[in-house]
Amino acid sequence: MEQELFIGIDIGGTNTRIALIDDSGRILLVRKVPTEIGLGTPQVSRRLAAECRSLMDAAAGFFGRVVAVGLGAAGRIDAARGMVVFSPNLPSMRDYPLAAELEKNLAIPVVLENDANVYGIGESWVGSGKDIENWIGLTLGTGVGGCLILGKRIWQGDGAGFAGEIGHMTIHPEGPACACGSKGCLETFSSGRALKEGVAAAIAAGTLREGPLYESWKNGSLTPETVYRAATEGNALAQALFDRMGRALGIALASLFNVLGIRHAIIGGGVSASWDRFIGPLRESLARHSGMFDPKEVSVVRSALGDDAALLGAGELARRAARESRRQ
Ligand SMILES: [Zn+2]
Repeated sequence: MEQELFIGIDIGGTNTRIALIDDSGRILLVRKVPTEIGLGTPQVSRRLAAECRSLMDAAAGFFGRVVAVGLGAAGRIDAARGMVVFSPNLPSMRDYPLAAELEKNLAIPVVLENDANVYGIGESWVGSGKDIENWIGLTLGTGVGGCLILGKRIWQGDGAGFAGEIGHMTIHPEGPACACGSKGCLETFSSGRALKEGVAAAIAAGTLREGPLYESWKNGSLTPETVYRAATEGNALAQALFDRMGRALGIALASLFNVLGIRHAIIGGGVSASWDRFIGPLRESLARHSGMFDPKEVSVVRSALGDDAALLGAGELARRAARESRRQ
């Protein structure tokens, strides 16, 4: 019998990954293409449609048929209208009916959701959140994404187009300026951007004048990985930045554990690869700010799916959309 398959798409600021996914949450095929948002959204949309059609053809090789597509993108999303309302990484996608256009083009259901929510859906389906009813999700990348899974469902709030934006919780009101317009948000301490800006600040203050961090900043090759490597090699500034990252995460998670009365958090995203550098300070900070809960009874773990969480979440979103469209 022909199996039903799904396409999951993770649209990033730089690259887009597109995967063919089966009903049990296995990735059968995955492709990576440059997003090239500079070409304009109509061009990006046409390219996505062509990639989807190519995977729909490839599905026959797995004795299957693609029945729906799920998309994850950063920013404020109007899921009901299938639109990116605003995304700092995908500026030209503003108010573009991406999902509706793809749906018309491919003649199967297409759904769009915020990338941190898609991460939560993926981990909840086949990852670290599989057997957990209520949990807090964080993704550490260029920024800090967040989601809340309550009763195995993504918390959508009042439908304002955002919810669970943990990256924009205020940690220190006099802290660094945040991309959202506020100051001292979690993101300004615990993101890849915060690591790089921490190095830049030390250089501006004249406290960092040589060494690999200084050199890579100077030649424009500084990345969160550079800071991680420096920390593992004993660089005090690099480790101080990871200490700050962990402390801020501990404060945010302690507040949320107290507010929500839940006990689990799952951390993913590219910068979570620096786990061994920030988890110690995170746990200490969590214990210091624990308030109502016993720090021994809460669990903070790493994403099981890594980079694939968003792809699988988009696939699960598609699977639900297919089920929904059958019911109608
Ligand atoms: Zn912010």
